[in-house]
Amino acid sequence: MLKDKLVLFHLFGFLPVSLISILDILIVSFIFYRLMRLIRGTRASQMLLGFFLLVSVALAAPLLQMEAFAWLLDQVRSILLIMLVILFQAELRRMLVSLGQSQVMSWFYKKESNRVIDAVVAGAVQLSERGYGALIVLVREVGLGPIIESGVPLNAEVSADLLTTIFTPRSPLHDQAVVIQSETLVAARCTLPLAEEVEDERLGTRHRAALGLSQESDAVCVVVSEESRSVSLAIAGELTRGLSAQQLKQRLTELMTRKEPAAKKP
Ligand code: ATP
Ligand code: MG
Repeated sequence: MLKDKLVLFHLFGFLPVSLISILDILIVSFIFYRLMRLIRGTRASQMLLGFFLLVSVALAAPLLQMEAFAWLLDQVRSILLIMLVILFQAELRRMLVSLGQSQVMSWFYKKESNRVIDAVVAGAVQLSERGYGALIVLVREVGLGPIIESGVPLNAEVSADLLTTIFTPRSPLHDQAVVIQSETLVAARCTLPLAEEVEDERLGTRHRAALGLSQESDAVCVVVSEESRSVSLAIAGELTRGLSAQQLKQRLTELMTRKEPAAKKP
């Protein structure tokens, strides 16, 4: 076999290691790494743990000669597979979407991503001109399942007018934050974790909520202040205030299309 011809060395004197096996391990590790990053902090991570527990018991049952239990598991094996697909449907879909949005593919998607950024910038400008407060979360790699679930699902196409409509005071969905994930405004009225220690003690809860989420995830939070009408950006626990439309667009483009890593806190 080709693999046998490409052997580089023998691990422990007997285990052949070839370039292909190294590549093989790297690919599988990368897939697992991306999978873990995708579901970190979501409900799926707990479900996965439960699922692993079930699979471990299923593997151990025949070894321990628990025949009745092994028989039962044998009967439901195909159902388990279907269950896996149903339970992780959202995650699998997200994984395929993020695969499609990987750096290699981003060249094809740039126009589309810019559309969302343009809508967010135009929305922030409209909201600031009207003096309406707003909090817009853009999901990057870390999943925000529990936060999205805390709000009202919308799954709407992002537009400046939609953002302005949502954040118009007295509209039923104006309170708290909206979450945008891969081109879609997935939910409104989402509750974010508040940052407890902030540099400026005068900061209100809207800005603290943006900071809080940015400390806990790699999400990008755009805040429009109702009081000062200024537009701010919270990333990695840092708040940049008083951004112009042009500055906001530039920062969002850097953060969203080039997948620039969020700056680490010292
Ligand atoms: P502004 O500059 O607009 O006044 P602020 O930082 O001073 O903002 P507040 O005046 O306290 O903050 O804003 C209150 C609003 O912040 C609430 O009406 C709500 O929409 C939003 N908010 C408060 N807590 C949260 C939270 N945990 N998650 C998301 N949004 C929140
Ligand atoms: Mg305030």
